[in-house]
Amino acid sequence: MKEKEYADVLNSDIQSAEGSLCGKDSVCRECESFSYPLMEQFLSLQGEGFNTGKAAYFIRLAGCNVRCDFCDVKQSWNVADRPLASVGSIVDNARKHNALNAVVTGGEPLLYDLNPLTRALKAEGICTWLETSASKPLSGIWDWICISPKTKRPPLEENMIYADELKVVISDESDFSFAELYASKTKRDCMLYLQAEWESEKKVMKSIIDYIEHHPIWRLSLQTHKYLDIR
Ligand code: SF4
Repeated sequence: MKEKEYADVLNSDIQSAEGSLCGKDSVCRECESFSYPLMEQFLSLQGEGFNTGKAAYFIRLAGCNVRCDFCDVKQSWNVADRPLASVGSIVDNARKHNALNAVVTGGEPLLYDLNPLTRALKAEGICTWLETSASKPLSGIWDWICISPKTKRPPLEENMIYADELKVVISDESDFSFAELYASKTKRDCMLYLQAEWESEKKVMKSIIDYIEHHPIWRLSLQTHKYLDIR
């Protein structure tokens, strides 16, 4: 059901993968050979949001259409210098690390058709988690979707109902109304998080705590991986 809904929102705006929606339960050869510009892949703990503390295999795709001023992975913007990694090789690596969960992130991973990658991960029994600005049409088969809306390129309206988690980065007071605007577009059981922009944390944390105390539908997300100095 969910897969069909995702297929409905696909459009020609994303890189297409012939054969990616093959309809087979197992992964077809075309899916396995489809490739993505990859910045890095590694095993770590999810540091922020709802799944904080759980082990996950991170698949960071290169390229971003948003280009936030505060981005802490600006190295991910450049696609040209990144090697193309096939779905087969990425999933092999995840399997070698005994991954139970995979975080597909970027950059902006929805620049690409994520059906081949997520189909292959799920065929291995690996849960698929997406981290996205949702500024491009949704693709892929997901167990968990975290939308982090960005003012520079807001999410597509039609993507919002698929968010299991909304995580809004707060840099200053004006971001609270932006957070409320996008919270109003999510489904009822979507988890709502406010997270301080890392460089502004000292400046905004008190306001965030105060805001959550007075608007308790929100929770605090901390970038625990940065406190722990892990990736
Ligand atoms: S959307 Fe994410 S990866 Fe892209 S510029 Fe913003 S913070 Fe960086």
